[in-house]
Amino acid sequence: MGKITGFLEYARLSEANLPVADRLTNYNEFVLHLSDAEAKQQGARCMDCGIPFCMSGCPINNIIPDWNDLVFKQDWRQAIDVLHSTNNFPEFTGRICPAPCEAACTLNINNDAVGIKSIEHAIIDKAWEMGWVQAQPPARKTGKKVAIVGSGPAGLAAAQQLARVGHTVVLLEKNDRIGGLLRYGIPNFKFEKSHIDRRMAQMAAEGVEFRVNQHVGENVSAEALLSEFDAVVLAAGAEQPRDLPVPGRELAGVHFAMEFLAQQNKVVAGDAVADQIKATGKQVVVIGGGDTGSDCVGTSNRHGAAMVSQFELMPKPPTQENRPLTWPNWPLKMRTSSSHEEGCQRDWSVGTKSFMGEAGKVTGLKAVRLEWKDGKMSEIPGSEFEMKADLVLLAMGFVSPVQKLLEVFGVEKDARGNAKASTEGECSYATSKAKVFAAGDVRRGQSLVVWAIREGRQCARSVDEFLMGSSTLPR
Ligand SMILES: Cc1cc2nc3c(=O)[nH]c(=O)nc-3n(C[C@H](O)[C@H](O)[C@H](O)COP(=O)(O)OP(=O)(O)OC[C@H]3O[C@@H](n4cnc5c(N)ncnc54)[C@H](O)[C@@H]3O)c2cc1C
Ligand code: SF4
Repeated sequence: MGKITGFLEYARLSEANLPVADRLTNYNEFVLHLSDAEAKQQGARCMDCGIPFCMSGCPINNIIPDWNDLVFKQDWRQAIDVLHSTNNFPEFTGRICPAPCEAACTLNINNDAVGIKSIEHAIIDKAWEMGWVQAQPPARKTGKKVAIVGSGPAGLAAAQQLARVGHTVVLLEKNDRIGGLLRYGIPNFKFEKSHIDRRMAQMAAEGVEFRVNQHVGENVSAEALLSEFDAVVLAAGAEQPRDLPVPGRELAGVHFAMEFLAQQNKVVAGDAVADQIKATGKQVVVIGGGDTGSDCVGTSNRHGAAMVSQFELMPKPPTQENRPLTWPNWPLKMRTSSSHEEGCQRDWSVGTKSFMGEAGKVTGLKAVRLEWKDGKMSEIPGSEFEMKADLVLLAMGFVSPVQKLLEVFGVEKDARGNAKASTEGECSYATSKAKVFAAGDVRRGQSLVVWAIREGRQCARSVDEFLMGSSTLPR
């Protein structure tokens, strides 16, 4: 611990954002990482409290107090080595992780948490800048071949770990570009795609082969993979969106969020998208209050929407959590994203009853206010209202993986339709089908990038043990 009184002397400093008016003119990232001096001071706020709850709050168990201290001492080189020892892609999490570590920070009991995510962001950006992020090709090849289906963070993490211990790794992706939801879900203004491209170059130098336009179960058969490879990892995400089957759902102008977001990401990448869904000049209603909904708000505002509203079924959460009750867990509280700050009318406890339309196009919706008691909701009589809408985006989450992939491999499913695989015991992450493993959202259901990285890493170790009898990869 570098500075014993740091947490008493320095206030938490958040990363600066470019002004709203500037950032709405483009799709670039707008969060500016801390300067060296700022990061040093923020690192000094870590108390090295002895029982690092932050580390257990972090799904990949980043060794946070150590790199806080190294940044305080300005030993950036050592800091990135410690950070990379638990996290393949800190530039992903340093940008888009919701930072459950900070909720668990001991300082968060009665003060502002250490800005852990901003320090992580500063370390990895410095490492790339200094040329410290290099390929780590294996000393020898094992002769074993692993196919990974799906190139989101789970697939990428598994691929990198397995390639580094000498296996021949082929990453198969149904889309035309690598990256999963990092590429075609999360907008560029939160996460620029050059971060994926840079890692792909590193991984290619480590021996990973990337194959795009490979739709397993459609133009690539499960049998072909099972006969060619010694192990197969399913990392195909949870892509089945939750629908809203109310009258008028079929109207033009009512879309799943992912249709809208993926198209915009393609346009930013330079692709021509015929009949792109645009929010320009429209009254947009986003249904669903999570990350995906928030990304629709930010994208709509960049299109130049006339007005953006967002409905959430659940009640409005408290502005401030009751920390003695919730710490060190992730609290339920009101969260306002940068996209909300850019302009959005938010409403809670609202149920959508139907969509109205003219000549086959949506023109509005009918909704009702809800009352929540003991976890159960009921409609408030007489609270029905109508709202004009000429673009409706459904962002109510994802129910499961697309079932066909699991079926073509014949893997057992859990009660929610995810690939069934335990993370405990011998041969963790193994499915019911011999030599087929599963990691990330395809196994745990809709989740977070940091959980996908954790599962990809842990699954890689299990696959390595399965292939070699033992493994030097971290657990
Ligand atoms: C709009 C949006 C915003 C989000 N924002 C955040 C955020 O800010 N922070 C955060 O932590 N999390 C966020 N998430 C969640 C996060 O993106 C996911 O939890 C994470 O990407 C899951 O990783 P994964 O590797 O398991 O799957 P995915 O990222 O979904 O990748 C799965 C890949 O498998 C491919 N695939 C599927 N089936 C096949 C097949 N049959 N053959 C070949 N390839 C196949 C898919 O095309 C896809 O590329 C967001 C999610 C969405 C939708
Ligand atoms: S990966 Fe997420 S939870 Fe872990 S240290 Fe980084 S911001 Fe915190």
